[in-house]
Amino acid sequence: MPADLLEHALAAKGFMPPEEGALLFRHALQRLPHGPVLEVGTYCGKSAVYLGAAAREAGEPGAVVFTVDHHRGSEENQAGWEHHDTTLVDPDLGRIDTLPFFRRTIAAAGLEEHVVAVVGRSGTVSAHWRTPLSLLFIDGGHGEQPAREDFAGWAPWVAYDGLLVVHDVFPDPADGGRPPYELIYLPALASGAFEEVEALGSMRVLRRVRGEAGDALG
Ligand code: SAH
Ligand code: MG
Repeated sequence: MPADLLEHALAAKGFMPPEEGALLFRHALQRLPHGPVLEVGTYCGKSAVYLGAAAREAGEPGAVVFTVDHHRGSEENQAGWEHHDTTLVDPDLGRIDTLPFFRRTIAAAGLEEHVVAVVGRSGTVSAHWRTPLSLLFIDGGHGEQPAREDFAGWAPWVAYDGLLVVHDVFPDPADGGRPPYELIYLPALASGAFEEVEALGSMRVLRRVRGEAGDALG
């Protein structure tokens, strides 16, 4: 990870430990020559800096990262929940808006040419998506419905030999919520389309070993 961009990643608000960010950088750098990367769950752009750093380092005009978020926060970001941050609330609307924070993070890091924000609900965007992905990073809503939608809507777009990276995977319920583990990680393996290649913290890296982008899994 280039030192100048690591500084920006560390400074950004968000939920990405540096070792797991470094994992994103390393895999994205290796995969970007084969097609775009897509992230679900932008928040304020912390993980997008690690991915965007890989796009910059890849040094190819087509090396780009799409990052999808409605920017209204997940359940656990809402007022009264564990991960609520009052500074993210738009005072006029009284609702969370992380988009301006993302914009500042990416501009300050000099990554506007490499990281493209897609603003909308994940399921709405995936329903219209048709582009094979070299790497898909799922770090969006952790409720049952968003997890199901992210898996069903995005995982089929991972190209053969491409990677599906999932955050907040907790095999032990004592460590965290169930949906990323039960509704994304386990079904991906059970489909036979993916095999695990690496685990670090709550990150799991799976490789597509069966089917092409756009094919049904399993
Ligand atoms: N990757 C970020 C953290 C993402 S937090 C980092 O590195 O810090 C999860 C994000 O997913 C939140 O910003 C929330 O708005 C978004 N999200 C949750 N459910 C969503 C959905 N159904 N569609 C789009 N975005 C969603
Ligand atoms: Mg996460």
